Amino acid sequence: MKKVFVKSYGCQMNAYDAERMADALAPEGFGETTAMDEADLIILNTCHIREKAAEKVYSELGRVRALKRERERDGRATTVVVAGCVAQAEGQEIIRRAPVVDVVVGPQSYHRLPELLHRAEARRGVVNTEFPVEDKFGHLPAASPAKTRSRGVSAFLTVQEGCDKFCTFCVVPYTRGAEASRLVVRIVEEAKRLADAGVREITLIGQNVNAYHGEGPDGTTWSLGRLLHRLAEIPGLARLRYTTSHPRDMDDALIAAHRDLPALMPYLHLPVQAGSDRILAAMNRRHTADTYRRIIDKVRAACPDIALSSDFIVGFPGETDADFLDTMSLIEDVRFASAFSFKYSPRPGTPAAELEDQVPEETKAERLARLQKRLEAHRQAFNRGTVGRTVDVLLEKPGRHPGQLAGKSPYLQAVHLQAEGLSVGDVVPVRITGAGTNSLSGEIERMTAPASAAA
Ligand code: SAM
Ligand code: SF4
Repeated sequence: MKKVFVKSYGCQMNAYDAERMADALAPEGFGETTAMDEADLIILNTCHIREKAAEKVYSELGRVRALKRERERDGRATTVVVAGCVAQAEGQEIIRRAPVVDVVVGPQSYHRLPELLHRAEARRGVVNTEFPVEDKFGHLPAASPAKTRSRGVSAFLTVQEGCDKFCTFCVVPYTRGAEASRLVVRIVEEAKRLADAGVREITLIGQNVNAYHGEGPDGTTWSLGRLLHRLAEIPGLARLRYTTSHPRDMDDALIAAHRDLPALMPYLHLPVQAGSDRILAAMNRRHTADTYRRIIDKVRAACPDIALSSDFIVGFPGETDADFLDTMSLIEDVRFASAFSFKYSPRPGTPAAELEDQVPEETKAERLARLQKRLEAHRQAFNRGTVGRTVDVLLEKPGRHPGQLAGKSPYLQAVHLQAEGLSVGDVVPVRITGAGTNSLSGEIERMTAPASAAA
């Protein structure tokens, strides 16, 4: 059997795509390997979102070239594919700069991978960065139940791709194309297949997941809230999540789903990026700090214990100390349970990269450190707040010690516990006993029989 190694960078969409590429290649006789040096086919599934993305890919390709030569000396051929957003952005340039590459394929054409590989046998340097109209996922073969289950009890499912928002700092609308939602029937089919294979939790993913507006079986357009209600009916599925959302698309139906659907976990990743209205306008975010605060109020009214998460960019062009302090005051108001924060990085081809008042590196670094210190304090406080409570934990994998399993709380916290007699895939009530830096520890809450039942 031939072997394929996929190295995936960046977001969950890429992690999902990496699995789909492996599934597309299985009927071609490829099995997956986690060792690059034993792979007949190497796929770099790249990310273009931040700093020096393309340069990192070229230096990785230098290592791949050395490996390919070494394998050639042993009489083994290696095919090299560059996929993902750098492939989309650089296209033919990759073949020019790195002749070791056989195929360059953009994120919308993975279903054509087997065909592109066949073409590359005859002629090296095949490039496909089109945005075809068909649903690529509908054209990809599904993994076997055993393969699906081997990937774990928690799975991603892409429901929409692309973005029409054009935030001025972001490459996504250029690399992933216009917003497109999958049909409800296709999503339900895939979710049922996952559940039948033993998956207990599905995270719906999309660059702008709550902009979802797919056609339903009744011919009407379904929102993400309605889709979640349908998915919650699938037997075996214990948990639903979704990411990443945009504040503009946080509609009432979705907020109500957090109140009405027990399967929808109390966790929301809602990037705000900045707390200054001036900067938010320059970013073309199309919301203010105050509208963001009001959305959070509504979400908390619907689901009081919800864990909130966000993304932040510091040092966007023109950001002053006062603008930065607005971000600091927003985080004190909201108190996020977790967050991702980045220094602004000019991305070629985006409007913000052309702005003149770029913020010096050391100012960005200093602001990022200040922001991260407070975000981390809030994260730790949130984690300490769960100590003493009993929460449901989905058991996902063996823990560090014998008899231990590790899982996730509803708030996406890692939890370790002694779990004799329990299995991966079980959802069990756990009393949280301690909060470490990166995970919680807990004990199974044993159900004690009520006094009357014992008599
Ligand atoms: N669609 C999502 C949204 O609207 O927030 C996220 C898209 S992006 C894959 C994930 C995060 O990367 C963004 O939320 C942003 O914080 C960060 N990011 C994107 N472009 C960036 C840039 N040029 N510099 C720094 N961070 C960036
Ligand atoms: Fe990028 Fe903005 Fe679209 Fe998110 S909403 S993917 S940050 S353009």
